[in-house]
Amino acid sequence: LLTDLRLRLSNSSIILHAMVVSYVSMFALYNVNMNMQGSYVYDINGNKYLDSLAGLWCTALGGSEPRLVKAATDQLNKLPFYHSFWNRTTKPTLDLADDLLSMFTASKMGKAFFTNSGSEANDSHVKLVWYYNNALGRPNKKKFIARSKAYHGSTLISASLTGLPALHQKFDLPAPFVLHTDCPHYWRFHLPGETEEEFATRLAKNLEDLILKEGPETIAAFIAEPVMGAGGVIPPPKTYFDKVQAVVKKYDILFIVDEVITAFGRLGTMFGSDMYNIKPDLVTLAKALSSAYVPIGATLVSPEIAAVVDSQSNKLGSFAHGFTYSGHPVACAVAIEALKIYRERNIPDHVKQIAPRFQEGLKAFAGSPIVGEIRGVGLIIGTEFADNKSRDSPFPAEWGVGAIFGQECQKRGMLVRVAGDSIMMSPPLTMTAGEVEELVSIYGEAMKSTEMKVAE
Ligand code: PLP
Repeated sequence: LLTDLRLRLSNSSIILHAMVVSYVSMFALYNVNMNMQGSYVYDINGNKYLDSLAGLWCTALGGSEPRLVKAATDQLNKLPFYHSFWNRTTKPTLDLADDLLSMFTASKMGKAFFTNSGSEANDSHVKLVWYYNNALGRPNKKKFIARSKAYHGSTLISASLTGLPALHQKFDLPAPFVLHTDCPHYWRFHLPGETEEEFATRLAKNLEDLILKEGPETIAAFIAEPVMGAGGVIPPPKTYFDKVQAVVKKYDILFIVDEVITAFGRLGTMFGSDMYNIKPDLVTLAKALSSAYVPIGATLVSPEIAAVVDSQSNKLGSFAHGFTYSGHPVACAVAIEALKIYRERNIPDHVKQIAPRFQEGLKAFAGSPIVGEIRGVGLIIGTEFADNKSRDSPFPAEWGVGAIFGQECQKRGMLVRVAGDSIMMSPPLTMTAGEVEELVSIYGEAMKSTEMKVAE
């Protein structure tokens, strides 16, 4: 069966995402005609899998929430489309903007702009920030600082902000106005004897040195995910964001928080910014914004940025940026309903309740001889395999330890994300305590089986 699927996938008329191709070539899951129920997906043969990644970190309310389906169909019946150009828009678009601005309380946000994806939202931020700086008469304040191992999307600009070499190599990226600073991964990058606190201080100092080297007057914004996702699930050291924010503020550099994965309860707080006391000037949202039932992304900007952009419409020309589907009424109607559910069911509290078992259940395997580190917070966790537990001795790539673990999970009815020897999980936020037990149990069995295979 797997050989057959592999053939059908490689001959199929769609271009699959590169990482998907390498993933399916190991253990294909023929996902056309797959369906979802709650935290489970079913393949074409009716096999059932616990979806430990919520699709792609996104089906936060599970795969079968009738309220979201109803919100979409009701809106389709009322007004399937109207645009948001030239001071026209629709009620769901305005209502969603109001909802988001009132829900995000880590710092005051002034206006929202809608996109179809997280990548587009980050690209939009870059244009908004440039427009803002041009309006303020500082056209040289153009550069962006992102972090190594960050993921911010795959369009030209968002892929430039991304700090993963695979997204740069062979694409002539990153763009020259994007700089990268350190990844805040303590286990991997701390110096001998360095405490987490000292590590955070060193990274903030390196950031400041980079700003001074480039000239603060050339740096427009710093962008960060509260917890890095696709880079391997990397929660920051405790004081990291305090220290980094102090530096950024000192040099009048805007802070963009990319909450595409961390928003709406993933960490046990409504937003990742709440957990790490981040006070951003701009916020990126997507994925769980609609629980991924329809494509939508959003940018929130501070009242100061919104006021400057608004005030310029007759001077610089209006903010000439937008997508046909910006603020699509169906997408906005679904997102409004998703936000209602997050609040009504108090999803961040639910996450707080089930997360300890999820985290502790998996971290119990941190002592395994093939595990380097297991790290996470709330309902997001990463496992990194390493030979003899040493960060400095990865397993030979051809052993495919991560892929073996992925196969062992899939055999037992669970899908995980594999990236080399890194495993990532971020299940639906609606998971039950029983599903957490199932996840922990499959993870444990797959771990033991992988240990045996590696030892062979
Ligand atoms: N930002 C973060 C933190 C993400 O994880 C992602 C996608 O995984 C994006 C941005 C890009 O979002 P999209 O794939 O919707 O363009």
